[in-house]
Amino acid sequence: MSHTPAHILIVEDERAVARGLEYALQNEGFEVVWAQTGRQAIDFAHSEKPDAILLDIRLPDINGFDVCKQLRGAGMRQPILMVTARDEEVDKVLGLELGADDYIVKPYSLREVISRIRAQLRRAYGELSAVQSSRHFVFGDIEIDPERFLVTKGGEPLDLTPTEFRLLTHLVANPGHPLTREGLIEAVWGYDSELGYDRTVDVHMRRLRQKLEDDPANPRWFVTVRGVGYKFQPD
Ligand code: CA
Repeated sequence: MSHTPAHILIVEDERAVARGLEYALQNEGFEVVWAQTGRQAIDFAHSEKPDAILLDIRLPDINGFDVCKQLRGAGMRQPILMVTARDEEVDKVLGLELGADDYIVKPYSLREVISRIRAQLRRAYGELSAVQSSRHFVFGDIEIDPERFLVTKGGEPLDLTPTEFRLLTHLVANPGHPLTREGLIEAVWGYDSELGYDRTVDVHMRRLRQKLEDDPANPRWFVTVRGVGYKFQPD
């Protein structure tokens, strides 16, 4: 992505909405592919290898939740931003732990969409190597190799999304320090902290715990700091 424009897959069944997004993104120098159905989204994700995917939930065939699950199941790790129209869907995005990196609620401004996509791209590709030193982290039976983008538990590789990986490395790089949700949003997602992103942090923490903790309900490493946020608690 360093020499070619970032390639964005828009998954949206409403032509007018897709056109608006396409126009705005192309204006910003992105290359855009448009999928009109869930099936097409999965095909294009494989054939076009987009750098990020903007995924509407309400699609005529396979809904966005299932598309997201299938893409992650196929090992795709690029940022996925789910687009939801209703509050219940936000809860579902967060609750189902599909592997999405972020969500945007309709109606959104095109400016917001672009800044979210930029932030995801920056975090996923641009700053990854700069943010993470080549330092290895080892605690318990968990090992993190930032250079190889590899996390193992008991010697078994774990499947983490780029966002989960950044969150994890940010936490372990600050052992013993309580980190606020706002600070995590800025450091990991690259957004200015505003109200409303807390649940994004919480759901990613829940996923990390499920993947890393022996007992996710009683975390040993990634503990909640009441009224603040989270903390990596080494031995
Ligand atoms: Ca739709």
